[in-house]
Amino acid sequence: MAGEPAGAATGAPSASTAGGAPAVPGGEPPGTALPGPRFAAPAPGDREWAEVLALIAGAREIDLVCHVCPDGDALGSALAAGLALRSLGHRVRVSFGDDPQVVPASLAFLPGQELLVPVAEVPDRPELVLTFDVAAESRLGLLREKALAARALVVVDHHASNTGFGTHPLVDPAAPATAVLVDELLRRLGVPLDQSIAACLYTGVATDTGSFKYRATTAATHEFAARLLATGIRQDLISRTLWDTSSFGYLKVLSAALARAELDRTAVGGLGLVWTWVPYADLAAHGVTVEEIEGLIDVVRRTAEAEVALVLKQDPDGALRGSSRAKGAVDVAAACAALGGGGHVYAAGFTSALGVQETLDRFRRALRPSA
Ligand code: MN
Repeated sequence: MAGEPAGAATGAPSASTAGGAPAVPGGEPPGTALPGPRFAAPAPGDREWAEVLALIAGAREIDLVCHVCPDGDALGSALAAGLALRSLGHRVRVSFGDDPQVVPASLAFLPGQELLVPVAEVPDRPELVLTFDVAAESRLGLLREKALAARALVVVDHHASNTGFGTHPLVDPAAPATAVLVDELLRRLGVPLDQSIAACLYTGVATDTGSFKYRATTAATHEFAARLLATGIRQDLISRTLWDTSSFGYLKVLSAALARAELDRTAVGGLGLVWTWVPYADLAAHGVTVEEIEGLIDVVRRTAEAEVALVLKQDPDGALRGSSRAKGAVDVAAACAALGGGGHVYAAGFTSALGVQETLDRFRRALRPSA
């Protein structure tokens, strides 16, 4: 689930992203320190929200866009907002900039998908676009030009790495999920939570907090979850679908990857590196997609003897997508940047055209203890 942060201008990945890493969303705490510029503006206040409410009230059509290779927070937030705005009588479309658009199997249960339209059905110059969980223009993918051509572009996001694009940023890096900001939007719109909206928002907040485990999870996060559960949604079924369901082929790929894992206790001055890789042939042999193995890094990073974990996943063309994690003593975003990627201090990724050994060597050489 988690992913590396929708990183910087680099093609830094998000676990679900083509760039390689997961959209951190899926995962990692966006509130953690990031390398490079951080979103500096204060959290949106009454004035910022009021301006957006006025834009929505005056719009005949509203396009809602989440980031490419959407994770639970991105798609859940966009669909929840879509359902809410539709209930108010607005004509709404939900889209994301991939072609073809693939909704991950684990998110196929999300309500509101009848609102989804392909990129081609989004107008060239939309009246009003709201983006969800999009930290940078690059994460709009094929919808980048259209979104930037909108008369107003509202950016609802929680990434500390948000670049500040759009005409009306509603960015709060303290929020554990974009879904929390959508809840605020709904409250201000006067739309009550129903089970469909709650299922979407629960998926968003549960995904981005790693099942309420990450540091950004607060008492308010649990109070939000309690309001969502009070609608009667089956959080047990949602959780099983999100995290505890995979194909048998995945188990086979996982077991091969774990058998291939190596521990280098001497890396980074003795802090340790654990790593493995997945050849494309393994995926092909078992009918497993690269998206399905995003969670592999979460197994590998359990290793107590290693500060840093790295998983290399091979694409059909031989390119390697790297996903890395650290526990606080090493900045993996910096190491990934050395390979042309980026992300968060604790979660970052890259794409490499080099071979496995050369990629590993470069990554290891770029590792440094945090300042
Ligand atoms: Mn998110």
